[in-house]
Amino acid sequence: MKKAVILGGGESGVGAAVLAKVQHYDTFLSDSGTLKESYRNELQKWEIPFEEGGHNVEKILAADLVIKSPGIPETAPLIVKLHELGTPVISEIEFAGYYDKARKICITGSNGKTTTTSLIYYLLQNAGLNVGLGGNIGKSYAMQVATEQHDIYVLEISSFQLDGMYDFKADIAVLMNITPDHLDRYDHCFQNYINAKFRITRNMRPEDCFIFCNDDEVTIGELNKIVVQAKKLPFTQNGTVTEGAWLEDDRMRVRYEGDEFDILVQDLALEGKHNVYNSMAAAITGKIMHITNDTIRRSLTTFEGVEHRMEKVMTVGGVLYVNDSKATNVNSTWYALESVQTPIVLILGGTDKGNDYGPIADLVREKVKAIVCLGVDNRKIKDFFGGMVPVYETLSAEECVNQCAALAVAGDTVLLSPCCASFDLFKNYEDRGRQFKEAVRKL
Ligand code: ADP
Repeated sequence: MKKAVILGGGESGVGAAVLAKVQHYDTFLSDSGTLKESYRNELQKWEIPFEEGGHNVEKILAADLVIKSPGIPETAPLIVKLHELGTPVISEIEFAGYYDKARKICITGSNGKTTTTSLIYYLLQNAGLNVGLGGNIGKSYAMQVATEQHDIYVLEISSFQLDGMYDFKADIAVLMNITPDHLDRYDHCFQNYINAKFRITRNMRPEDCFIFCNDDEVTIGELNKIVVQAKKLPFTQNGTVTEGAWLEDDRMRVRYEGDEFDILVQDLALEGKHNVYNSMAAAITGKIMHITNDTIRRSLTTFEGVEHRMEKVMTVGGVLYVNDSKATNVNSTWYALESVQTPIVLILGGTDKGNDYGPIADLVREKVKAIVCLGVDNRKIKDFFGGMVPVYETLSAEECVNQCAALAVAGDTVLLSPCCASFDLFKNYEDRGRQFKEAVRKL
């Protein structure tokens, strides 16, 4: 019996362990931290041995195959040792791909992955297809391959998962954009991160499709250097393309193999320039999958969005409160500011990942009437924006929302789009978003 060791007992690790067990591996899961109660129960239910709070190195080094959580860096001593031994170290997605014959639609990029993945999933569900949703979102892909039967999967794939992918092949790959992110995991070398993202195109053949943003200079620069076998389908908001998606007057147009679809941009359920890109990627996927124009239209006009991404919370006293807590970098906040058409009270702050606020300065001057900081150390924000708009400091969601309510008047938008991670005051961005919403509801 081959020995599989799973490193990391989160959603993807536990799914991979169950799949390994089902595929008759001698399976063992090891986590240096503590497991969530529900995952512990799951492992026990499947009679999978595991350890937590440390690694049994000897046992791990005896593995024939290691499936590593995307959170563990390649430089971790244990991983280095496994590489020295020549033990294959792969990601959960790679592993599940070995046992899955379903058609796979895979979405990656620096921003817009979850939104686009969810939108494509919604579209395929509306078309009545038997489709699973996985990757960085919801229930792990491996668990579904182990316990469910789907004809199609829509998978959100991060660069860390792509790092551990070798033989996996996407039937449709979507690359939303590439902006510098996570460089600490890529030797501070942007090209390494670009290479990771382009692994989404690995093993693709001419009958497969690669959907990408023609307006993204980094993507285009890379495409000029490498050969991608798959059929290339660009989307753009500048100019036109012969196949793919583009804007014409006030319509978004899509063409695939001579078949066309179009829709008024103002009818799209998701607002903002970034969401036009996301809708374009979904619509092209729909055409490739032979979904009817009626279903594509219905899906793009009724999709309700994803929590914490430009989520409209409610209107209080004529002021709209928007939760964009997931905007943890400057690029996503740029798109958030761009999409709001009213005066804005902007909530910024948290754990700064080395932000350069330059790219949003013009939009702040143009649209923002005040900045309310929600974070412990706000020096950088005060220094940068202090001369442009009034800056206030708060230390809890409730204090912050009350301050915003005092500053905003009917017709304004209060926007939580903080440019920063949340770990100084909150568990994670979801916790920040939920506390914000609770505070708004108490107003
Ligand atoms: P990801 O899963 O890649 O982090 P999300 O769909 O969760 O992306 O969106 C994260 C944030 O990025 C959102 O708050 C939104 O403001 C912004 N965003 C969404 N789509 C795009 C896009 N296509 N380009 C740039 N920013 C985007």
